[in-house]
Amino acid sequence: MKKRPHVVIVGAGFGGLGVAEQLAHVSVDVTLIDRHNYHTFQPLLYQVATSLLNAEDVGAPVRSLFRRQENVSFQLGTVTGIDVPGQKIRLEEGKEISYDYLVLAGGATVNYFNTPGAAEHAFPLYTLTNAVKLRNQILERFEAADRDPNLVEDGALNFVIVGAGPTGVETAGALSDLFYNLLPHDYHQLATEKARVILVEMGKEVLPPFKENLRAYAKEALEERRVEVRLGEAVAEIGPTFVRLKSGEEIKAHTLVWAAGVRANPLADLLGLPQGRGGRVKLNPDLSVPDHPEIFVVGDMGEVASDGEVLPQLGSVAMQSGEHVGRQIDRRVQGEPGQPFKYWDKGFMATIGRGAAVVEFPNKMTLHGPLAYFAWLGVHLALLNGIRNRIETLWNWSWSALTHDRAARIIIDAKDEAAQTLSKPAA
Ligand SMILES: Cc1cc2nc3c(=O)[nH]c(=O)nc-3n(C[C@H](O)[C@H](O)[C@H](O)COP(=O)(O)OP(=O)(O)OC[C@H]3O[C@@H](n4cnc5c(N)ncnc54)[C@H](O)[C@@H]3O)c2cc1C
Repeated sequence: MKKRPHVVIVGAGFGGLGVAEQLAHVSVDVTLIDRHNYHTFQPLLYQVATSLLNAEDVGAPVRSLFRRQENVSFQLGTVTGIDVPGQKIRLEEGKEISYDYLVLAGGATVNYFNTPGAAEHAFPLYTLTNAVKLRNQILERFEAADRDPNLVEDGALNFVIVGAGPTGVETAGALSDLFYNLLPHDYHQLATEKARVILVEMGKEVLPPFKENLRAYAKEALEERRVEVRLGEAVAEIGPTFVRLKSGEEIKAHTLVWAAGVRANPLADLLGLPQGRGGRVKLNPDLSVPDHPEIFVVGDMGEVASDGEVLPQLGSVAMQSGEHVGRQIDRRVQGEPGQPFKYWDKGFMATIGRGAAVVEFPNKMTLHGPLAYFAWLGVHLALLNGIRNRIETLWNWSWSALTHDRAARIIIDAKDEAAQTLSKPAA
């Protein structure tokens, strides 16, 4: 019997899942590889970091997603090498896997633009581990300030967010809600009103991709929530207890959230092919790479373009590009020619805080305020993977809306256990 073509997909994000699902009824064997055993729903990571959702609510086990799709096998592993002429990928521990078709869907990673101190002290927000680390840091700083109130003056309750794109704005709004509506009830002795949320943005506006009226609304809504919006400012250096701005001003702060830039996953550098802005791999119109029709790139790693226009790094672009590549592999297997990728723009949206959001539709109509907020909740609930995650998320949102309480306010820090083991008296 003729062997079926083997498709290897690296990355179980929106792009990788799109490819694998599209291949459900195609006569191929699929190996889906990810360094985590779960798919991460990145748009809600900021809610994990700010205690609104549990980590498990935004992570779906990959094996359970493909329980009913027998042509997909999952491998937990980190891809560290690509042998393009030999058509093989290599995992960290040395195992090699051959492919007939390779789809790279490794997403993006943080870009600190060589800012001094950023790699050591900044908190990025791209993975579930990042989100849990940031949550630990926020809760831990409040505990530290409660033990030693002098730390408030030292900046323990000052939180700087760099970048006023959707991630920065959503995080700033959620921190303000946590600090001014919930934590004052938990800390009776602590001057929680002294907590500060400072949003620093190099450009002249918040939410730059949105229309003017939405940008103005977003800034006003943030300021109503006591977020200090600092436009036209950039971060020059980050230390453990300070953030220095380009203007020379120094802000006392123990926490800086980095939401200011991404670059393509370093796997993109391994191909030795032309790369565009942010290291994204340049692609043919069908999303294969130049000179290698057997390799495709989808989502944030590639310069995904539609009608000649490079698209932004968004979940919907990753999902649709993944589905497109699934269809192209099907066509190749059937001996049919490739087709260019065409993006169906469904608009975009961002929340600013409880009851406040902005939506821009493809026809340029806009919506803001509570109606936009409910639209945002509905869309994100529908996009989450798995019924269990949807029910838990809906429950956590409803509980928080009714009570201002938040589900995930525990500090889970592995180093606690290590310290306890070390301090055990010798037998
Ligand atoms: C905080 C945040 C909020 C966002 N909010 C929105 C939003 O509201 N709306 C929107 O449309 N978009 C949003 N985005 C963007 C959107 O999430 C991304 O565009 C989308 O996730 C890209 O999908 P992807 O499949 O390319 O990559 P990802 O979803 O990042 O998936 C990449 C996968 O590859 C795996 N991987 C990486 N390297 C390796 C390796 N070497 N070996 C094995 N596995 C590997 C990773 O573990 C991951 O599972 C947000 C992004 C972030 C970070």
